[in-house]
Amino acid sequence: MSENHYSFFKGVERNFDKAAKFTRFSKGILEQIKACNSILRVKFPVRIGDHVEVIEAYRVQHSHHKTPCKGGIRFSMEVNQDEVMALAALMTYKCAVVNVPFGGAKGGVKIDPHKYSIADLERITRRYTAELCKKNFIGPGIDVPAPDYGTSSREMSWIVDTYISLNPHDVNASGCVTGKPVSQGGVRGRTEATGLGVFFGVREACAIQEDMERLGLEVGIKGKRIIIQGLGNVGYHAAKYCQEAGAIIVGLIEYNGAIYNKDGIDVEAAQAHRATHGSLLNFPGATNIVEPAEGLEQDCDILIPAALESVIHKGNADRIKAKIVGEAANGPLTPDADEILNKKGTLIIPDMYLNAGGVTVSYFEWLKNLSHVRYGRLEKRFSENRYTDIVNSIEELTHKKLSEAERKLIMRGPDEIDLVHSGLEDTMIGSYREIRDTLASTPGVEDMRTAAFICAINKIGVAYEELGIFP
Ligand code: NAD
Repeated sequence: MSENHYSFFKGVERNFDKAAKFTRFSKGILEQIKACNSILRVKFPVRIGDHVEVIEAYRVQHSHHKTPCKGGIRFSMEVNQDEVMALAALMTYKCAVVNVPFGGAKGGVKIDPHKYSIADLERITRRYTAELCKKNFIGPGIDVPAPDYGTSSREMSWIVDTYISLNPHDVNASGCVTGKPVSQGGVRGRTEATGLGVFFGVREACAIQEDMERLGLEVGIKGKRIIIQGLGNVGYHAAKYCQEAGAIIVGLIEYNGAIYNKDGIDVEAAQAHRATHGSLLNFPGATNIVEPAEGLEQDCDILIPAALESVIHKGNADRIKAKIVGEAANGPLTPDADEILNKKGTLIIPDMYLNAGGVTVSYFEWLKNLSHVRYGRLEKRFSENRYTDIVNSIEELTHKKLSEAERKLIMRGPDEIDLVHSGLEDTMIGSYREIRDTLASTPGVEDMRTAAFICAINKIGVAYEELGIFP
């Protein structure tokens, strides 16, 4: 298909088909894995000021091989059925890759959120939730949305409140959506989860000596020169954690301007500058790139697109200088761009793995909601008592005393945030190795995306086989 008529969903299918050849499943199972199971398209009226606006919105449940379905809700003027189908499909594969037992889904509301007041956004979100309730497209055991582009914990709190008011007898109602504020049943660590997961994934990629040697890079994230596109939830946190680990953020790109400084940009300061001045431009010490898309083409080791899909395409792929592209956004490369970069030998860390931190921690939040207990509540004091006993015994045996600061550090029991971050780190490391091992052990497979699809297809295919639907 020409990129003029580019279908994001067909792009996902194209990548799926490329990987499916390396699996053992029959045509029927592969067709069932690929198909979008349910598509809801609604139009509903909302009063905005003194007039009524008709809002177009979607929820797509791509796969029911495991329930509930899971996937974010985006608010954007670019929302259309093809996009929501593609994003829902990616969610199915993403959940499988990181062993989160959900089917994939996605929602979209076709609005520009910047054009509405907070009160308008609340009315739109609550009415959209009511539509999902009416059609049985939301519920802790059915379909569990989360934040995505243009939405945050604020919208999730409106969703959970609307759902609870329509389902007052559901004791698990708070599990109908994730990414909620902690006061509304959210889990600590969800806000930064996707960006932190991006950091863990990129760090893991940089730790593999063979791959770094092939790319002519040093092992380790320290000193890597990184450009990030999109300084929203995902991009900001990814930038922050990479910088804290010693990477040099040489470029930042927003829709209304980009900046570059080969010596590094302080992410916090740049974000504060943007909040004050409305754009990144004229940040002290950095060079302005007035045409933001050109920011992608600047010199760096790692490029992290964290805004929207299809930003790297046939037209600019051969000008991308990065040796590693970390897909923090969903679908930032068109299939043509993917091919061009793969030919150049670029290491592409695929979206369905790299931005899975959000759904991983959403899974932890959902489990917390169903168990009705905060992580660490049962074991924190027990662990601290055990560590105290151990330290006391060692001190007695060795006749040496630890300092108060050392005792405090060793004896601290885990809080919710510690457990969530460690669960996320373990997931991101384990899944990277699984994909990398699949790449290394499957003759003919040359890229991480195909390897990730193979991992996903194998797990979903077995689930369908064991459901007994297919002979
Ligand atoms: P967000 O709305 O918080 O931030 C997006 C940022 O990108 C904004 O700052 C926006 O101004 C900027 N942007 C928009 N168009 C741009 C352009 N052309 N050039 C440069 N910057 C541009 O959204 P987010 O939640 O950070 O999501 C970003 C991407 O990550 C999306 O593709 C989303 O699907 C994906 N993602 C998000 C999550 C999550 O937990 N939020 C999880 C998985 C994947």
